[in-house]
Amino acid sequence: MEIAEYVKKWKIFLLDLDGTVYIDGALIGDMKRTLETLRKHGKRLIYLTNNSSRTKEDYVRRLTGLGIYGEEDDVYTSGDATIAYLKRHCAGRRVYLTGTEKVRESFLKQGIRLEEEDPEVVVLSYDTEIDYEKISKTARFLRRGLPYIATHPDVNCPAKPAPVPDVGSFIRMFEASAGRVPDVIVGKPYRYMAEGIRELTGTHGDEVVMVGDRLYTDIAFGANNGFSSLLVFSGETTEELYRQSAVRADLTLQTLNDIVKYL
Ligand SMILES: [Mg+2]
Repeated sequence: MEIAEYVKKWKIFLLDLDGTVYIDGALIGDMKRTLETLRKHGKRLIYLTNNSSRTKEDYVRRLTGLGIYGEEDDVYTSGDATIAYLKRHCAGRRVYLTGTEKVRESFLKQGIRLEEEDPEVVVLSYDTEIDYEKISKTARFLRRGLPYIATHPDVNCPAKPAPVPDVGSFIRMFEASAGRVPDVIVGKPYRYMAEGIRELTGTHGDEVVMVGDRLYTDIAFGANNGFSSLLVFSGETTEELYRQSAVRADLTLQTLNDIVKYL
């Protein structure tokens, strides 16, 4: 299929952030104009991130500050998808959440019952405020055999001068300590994040495209869930890495900016 045919078919763009839209907070090329052009052609933009250390409001503020948040746009994080999962599958249950203060507030605001002493479910999110007390508590509750949910699988989060440990690294620590691995991982590439997107957009299938720079989360998310996928080489994945990968995208571009040529 021609590139322009794909681009015409795609109605909803799920946009990864780091490595796709910006790198270290700096927009990639003329991303502002690219996103405006997509909107002008009737494409809906949803920023989709596995980073559960910040809330949707944090991201809206950040993207507005960068001048790339449109009125009709949306932000969806693995934290949002986890809230949707809890409402669907663990309604009313007491949750022990390892998470930042802001994220804890957003769970409470959405009606999730947070519990420090006698939880029924353990949720592990990207807690950049984690300390030894939280680590010990989480391990203790996991040893009780409680249902164990992690917001996403990423081992590292991109940062300068070097990547920093993300939830995937926490998961390995708790596996070593408590002998548990998550019963459910919500974020990209897993289906719970996709269910959240279907709930949000009321649509599914290949008119939704996942745009991202990471094979094992972004591109696998598209492939696993019946969405289209567009791999960009502006972040983690090099063309050399992609040649060796079993994960395949529908389309590849050097950067998302290249798409305007085909609109
Ligand atoms: Mg990325």
